[in-house]
Amino acid sequence: MSPVKPTADVAFDADVPILIVGAGAAGLCAALAAKEAGAEPLVIERDAQPAGSTSLSAGLIPAAGTRFQRARGIADDPQRFAADIQRKAKNEADAAIVTAVAQGAGPLIEWLSDRFGLPFDVIDNFNYPGHSAMRMHGLPTRTGLELINRLRSAAEASDISILPQRAAETLLVEPDGRIRGVEVVRGDGARERIGCRALVLACNGYGGNPDLIRRYIPEMANALYFGHPGNRGDAVLWGDALGAQLAHLGAYQGHGSVATPHNILITWAVIMQGGFQVNSEGRRFCDESRGYSEQAAEVLRQPNGIAWSLFDARVAAVARQFEDFRDAERSGAIVTRESVPALADAMHVPLEAFTAEWAATEALKTRAGQDRYGRRLAPEQQFAPPFHAVKVTGALFHTQGGLVIDAACRVKCKDDTVFPNLFAAGGAAVGVSGSTAAGYLSGNGLLTATVLGRLAGQEAVQVAR
Ligand SMILES: Cc1cc2nc3c(=O)[nH]c(=O)nc-3n(C[C@H](O)[C@H](O)[C@H](O)COP(=O)(O)OP(=O)(O)OC[C@H]3O[C@@H](n4cnc5c(N)ncnc54)[C@H](O)[C@@H]3O)c2cc1C
Repeated sequence: MSPVKPTADVAFDADVPILIVGAGAAGLCAALAAKEAGAEPLVIERDAQPAGSTSLSAGLIPAAGTRFQRARGIADDPQRFAADIQRKAKNEADAAIVTAVAQGAGPLIEWLSDRFGLPFDVIDNFNYPGHSAMRMHGLPTRTGLELINRLRSAAEASDISILPQRAAETLLVEPDGRIRGVEVVRGDGARERIGCRALVLACNGYGGNPDLIRRYIPEMANALYFGHPGNRGDAVLWGDALGAQLAHLGAYQGHGSVATPHNILITWAVIMQGGFQVNSEGRRFCDESRGYSEQAAEVLRQPNGIAWSLFDARVAAVARQFEDFRDAERSGAIVTRESVPALADAMHVPLEAFTAEWAATEALKTRAGQDRYGRRLAPEQQFAPPFHAVKVTGALFHTQGGLVIDAACRVKCKDDTVFPNLFAAGGAAVGVSGSTAAGYLSGNGLLTATVLGRLAGQEAVQVAR
């Protein structure tokens, strides 16, 4: 089946002003914004109910200058946030999009909170790498499942139609590049054609498409994919067939701390609170504090593609705010011992190398020193028994490359003009992380899904009118 077809002689089963493909955070924020602006959006979703990678995430959204930050005395502003994004992305991110998301994130959080009742607060007991202020906003359970469920409830309360078990397959295109509608395959195999005046692609990236991963991100070709399997790269395939600009297809969000074999995310708070990793030889291998995304490939390069994350009871108390961490404890993924030799024994790592590495790292903490990889350690990060270890591997979370958009989320053609009525947001569009895994600043995923989703919904209303 061709991803794109001309519209000649095509009859439509229905016509809507705004059609949104995908009911993750991007699609639902687009729908809420479009409805608020007075339009009737229709969301189609391949799954039986909205979930996406959004439901698998920790649901944390970075935002600067919010009232939640002010209430906790955290000084921050969008310019500072934008500078942090570009520093991590090595200035490779599109400046206009960075400005749009950095400025839009605070209003987005307050909009979701005030208008739709999402009870956000700001995490203020640890910070993520690369953020110069505490700006991660999360819901009480710190889960993406809570985020997607609350967004879906908000959509239902706003009378937004979400059609489940509808996979968009083919875009129907006018000769001038205008998208006339979409051919959809229903769960029962029947086909229908839905016409639209504006189309928003919110169907995330290509993490669930092994062929595209092999082609664009070979270093992750054999890695565990931890995102939603239904994200099969449709936006990229449609864009390619339409002659749209695609960028940074080798960029991705990885994570260097997924408990194995349990497959449970271990929050990076463990590292930021003074935890560190060793390989199965009991040795450290890099500066873990640069970020969890680039750490995925580092861990996969170690013997057997695994590492051990090490921490103590103080760190575990901070990590316990995450339901995933509590799950990891309940499932026995976390090993606890009263002494370092006992921990080495439980981990089956060489005692001498491990105890030497542990002692050297703890000594650096005492004197606020810098390790051989350039990581700065601090006295307040020193460990006290009981000690913990969890065996982890590196995983691919989601892709960061995609359709190039302008600051109104309109998809760009190869000649830098824009398609008249085609929008993209979230993982369907190129992210703000530059060209590599290392450019991913924590929260870039939901940042571009929610803020650009909202913006795409607002802009689509203008075009649909
Ligand atoms: C384990 C994990 C933890 C994460 N934690 C965080 C975090 O704390 N903070 C953060 O910012 N980011 C995080 N991320 C990244 C974040 O989850 C994603 O960036 C974000 O959810 C993307 O939202 P989206 O709406 O673009 O895509 P999704 O939420 O994946 O939604 C896309 C939807 O489109 C549907 N779809 C796809 N193709 C079609 C089609 N052809 N027709 C119809 N429907 C289709 C899919 O079924 C899916 O429901 C995490 C990711 C993972 C995997």
